[in-house]
Amino acid sequence: MQVRKEIQVAGIVQGVGFRPYVYRLATDRNLGGNISNTPAGVNIEIQGPPDRVEDFVSRLPEEAPALAQITHVLVRELPCKPDRCFEILPSHTGEHASALISPDVAVCEDCLRELFDPQDRRHLYPFINCTNCGPRFTIVRDVPYDRPRTSMSTFPMCDKCRAEYEDPRNRRFHAQPNACWECGPQLEFWDIQGRPMKALDPIEAAVKRLRSGEILAVKGLGGFHFAVDAVNPDAVERLRQRKRRVEKPFAVMVRDLETAGRFCEIDAEAQRLLNSRQRPIVLLPRTNGTAIAETVAPHQRDLGLFLPYTPLHHLLFAAGKFTALVMTSGNLSEEPIAIDNREAVDRLGGIADFFLVHDREILLRCDDSVVRRSAGRLRQIRRSRGYVPAPVRLHKELPQILAVGGELKNTICLTRRNLAFLSQHIGDLENIESFDFFCNAVTYLSRILEIEPEVIAHDLHPDYFSTKWALTQKGVRLVGVQHHHAHIAACMAENRIDGRVIGLSLDGTGYGTDGQIWGGEVLIADYASFERAAHFAYAALPGGATAIREPWRMAVSYLAQTFGEDFLGLDIPFVQKLERGKAELILRMMAQRVNSPLTSSCGRLFDAVAALIGIRQEVSYEAQAAIELEMSARSSNETDGYPLAIRREDARWQIDTAPLFGAIVEDLRRKVCAETISRRFHNGLVETLMRLACLLRQESMINRICVSGGTFNNLLVFEHLVRKLESQGFEVFTHSEVPAGDGGLSLGQALVAAHSAPNETHIPQHQEIMRCDLD
Ligand SMILES: [Zn+2]
Ligand SMILES: [Zn+2]
Ligand SMILES: [Zn+2]
Repeated sequence: MQVRKEIQVAGIVQGVGFRPYVYRLATDRNLGGNISNTPAGVNIEIQGPPDRVEDFVSRLPEEAPALAQITHVLVRELPCKPDRCFEILPSHTGEHASALISPDVAVCEDCLRELFDPQDRRHLYPFINCTNCGPRFTIVRDVPYDRPRTSMSTFPMCDKCRAEYEDPRNRRFHAQPNACWECGPQLEFWDIQGRPMKALDPIEAAVKRLRSGEILAVKGLGGFHFAVDAVNPDAVERLRQRKRRVEKPFAVMVRDLETAGRFCEIDAEAQRLLNSRQRPIVLLPRTNGTAIAETVAPHQRDLGLFLPYTPLHHLLFAAGKFTALVMTSGNLSEEPIAIDNREAVDRLGGIADFFLVHDREILLRCDDSVVRRSAGRLRQIRRSRGYVPAPVRLHKELPQILAVGGELKNTICLTRRNLAFLSQHIGDLENIESFDFFCNAVTYLSRILEIEPEVIAHDLHPDYFSTKWALTQKGVRLVGVQHHHAHIAACMAENRIDGRVIGLSLDGTGYGTDGQIWGGEVLIADYASFERAAHFAYAALPGGATAIREPWRMAVSYLAQTFGEDFLGLDIPFVQKLERGKAELILRMMAQRVNSPLTSSCGRLFDAVAALIGIRQEVSYEAQAAIELEMSARSSNETDGYPLAIRREDARWQIDTAPLFGAIVEDLRRKVCAETISRRFHNGLVETLMRLACLLRQESMINRICVSGGTFNNLLVFEHLVRKLESQGFEVFTHSEVPAGDGGLSLGQALVAAHSAPNETHIPQHQEIMRCDLD
């Protein structure tokens, strides 16, 4: 007796070796039927004796290839047909290509073995790949994912490659980027004018230049990197100068796990993460006295390490015997990374000495991802290559929505059914190149995900590029979403929870519903709405965006707020070193409320403390003062914390910073060291937030608490606060799949928009505030 079943499988099941896997599963059991790619995933018909068919059905999801991500399986009975063997049928192209595209995958062990096997026909071939590894997202032009719709379409396969591609038993069956020396992409080594230096072996030439300390622009998977030898301080310094990147840390690619262990403290979890197929940059505590040049990450506790992830990286390390290479984004400070060869020569020529390029086009730019582990879970800092476009699964189905994110660390988000697709890291939308990238990402992702949004969600800030873009879109419903509400909604969404929560939303900058700059917010929120239950007391931001680049201005602002103008008489080093003229100018600005908007920012509070205790007066990259303050606090075991007052004002709670600054000044007078003061500041902040949460729980009877916003990239605050809240019996929800910072904002915007009333179209009024475009 025979049965026949149809099995529809949805998810990431194309381009990941799923069909050959099913073919083997069927033929090993002598079952008949067929499999084909469908717009939604794959469709399987399977026929044979009932017990063997049952076995097939139950094993199908269990033993699926590592890269497959199954979201739905639907099984139904069919009448039997006469077929005896199992076939792979050609792809359908349908009206709705909802099959998911896989993220790019690091080169697999099998391919690596072949890469270094002198007998293999792909020996040392820099573009070796198979169904288990290689580029995906970055080479897609359209869906369904098939070679003619990728940037491999210009490389007709040779007979040998085609035979592999067509053989269901082969590891390269339907591996779309399949290629070899004979038929595939090739490397070239170019001089600074972009002239190919054909007489040279590209790898050998690149290695020689790196060894002599020169700067290379290397075309990778999702864009160009600048590469220099990480143990050569002069080379690193030259890269800093030319890139005009003063202190922001560089990521370091290390030869292997063992080498990584020499530079940083690495446990089993960190090893697993470094070695994962996503190959993210992992932030790890550095060990003392390593060979890595100090200028790679000045004043940093952590180093960002990653392992080679393309065959080309492995070839460079093998040929050059490097221990570590700085591999940093191939861009000018805040612009997007270069992806095109000629564009790279034009834009990166002032920085790189030579170019290592290839002729496989990168269609979608995708930066390296940055992650770390804390409080036992993975934390995304920058979710990009390796993770995108895998969806975040939601607790319920949403309409098709486009959320355009914020201004800094921008990502966009598209929703379809119960899936949310966050884009790769787009970056800071403050120059025309980034804005182009943003527009491009919207078009491209909508196309390959086949999503036509009915609703567009945007930030309330009227001057954000993303808001302005949204407001020009016709024929869709627009929903403005408050920044800190979006943070909390993002945290709820990835934890798949519903209902009301207490939301701790702490960051640098977000436009408030009162037109002020919010940033230290405690909300009672659900997806549809929020109430501002508490916030940090407002302080002036003297000079607007300048105050963000110059933390000493915030210290003046808080001192003046606490002590009045008398603070100029305080006998503490900060005041003694202060230039009178500058200080008085700022005091006048604040008194006359000229270019001094009010802010409840938590980020600015960290800035003020860092400046006041002499850690940092001016910053060269975002959050630098807060990062250095945290590092300082870590070298102290102090358990005391400074007082912050919680008081009732205008029907909500406010956190009053005057007692804090009073206590810090007292400690400075007593010459208490910076480490102790920073630790007391951290401890006091955590204690205050915990007390506030308890107060709000009493008032609202809500025990669920969501923690979100860029401030929680500070692990000293994050880990201690979560521990304390849990010890008080709170149910605490944190970010793991998407960043706590503004990279996760678009997810929250989408959820809020989905829950807004259908006739509600919010268009923000332009308020009289200055543009505040740094976080
Ligand atoms: Zn492979
Ligand atoms: Zn070939
Ligand atoms: Zn934010």
